[in-house]
Amino acid sequence: MSLRHASLQKSEIETELKGSFMELRKVLFELNVKDASLLSTAWALLRWHDAHQFCSRSGQPTKKNMAGSKRVCPSNKIIYYPQMAPVVITLVSDGTRCLLARQSSFPKGMYSALAGFCDIGESLEEAVRREVAEEVGLEVERLQYSASQHWPFPNSSLMIACHATVKPGQTEIHVNLRELEAAAWFSLDEVAAALRRKGPYIRQQDETFPFWLPPKLAIAHQLIKEWVEKHSRSSLPA
Ligand SMILES: [Zn+2]
Repeated sequence: MSLRHASLQKSEIETELKGSFMELRKVLFELNVKDASLLSTAWALLRWHDAHQFCSRSGQPTKKNMAGSKRVCPSNKIIYYPQMAPVVITLVSDGTRCLLARQSSFPKGMYSALAGFCDIGESLEEAVRREVAEEVGLEVERLQYSASQHWPFPNSSLMIACHATVKPGQTEIHVNLRELEAAAWFSLDEVAAALRRKGPYIRQQDETFPFWLPPKLAIAHQLIKEWVEKHSRSSLPA
């Protein structure tokens, strides 16, 4: 895009480029992996610069370095680096079923793995155990790291995905309604069927649409898919 666009109105840019501005949060997962990653990094970095214009010690304006990778306070030389908050995404399983939950802020009908910010001083393992206990009242027996992903909203998180297993027979859930709207155990067949459905990520959803899962590029989707693949293999006849 040429520089003169800086003085154009949004609508003029849309007309000239024959496109339309859309909220990144809504379209991020509709893009290809490379574009999604670039846009997510750019969005997070621009927001961080915008929110760190002043030194929190001296109150003086900070200066961005050439690469945009940090800001420096000219008066006391404090260097500020962009930060990410670690978030654990946990798929709890009892060996045959997995636990999916929804927050009231989720799009209607969407269920996902449990998620929560790590508290300061906590290890990932401690955060997983605490979140699972707090949100659904279950005790994690084993946990295993799966993968991680940067998520730019609302203020850059590093999503760390884990599989957690509870003891068979200790599966009664107590949903913490301050954090979750609902949580339940789902069978392998139910989850496998939900993975095959394409969720109504943008389009309107009708009342009878069955529950659906986060879109393919979301780390929660990958975590759920991994669980389904592992359990489908082990439930195949020998
Ligand atoms: Zn300063």
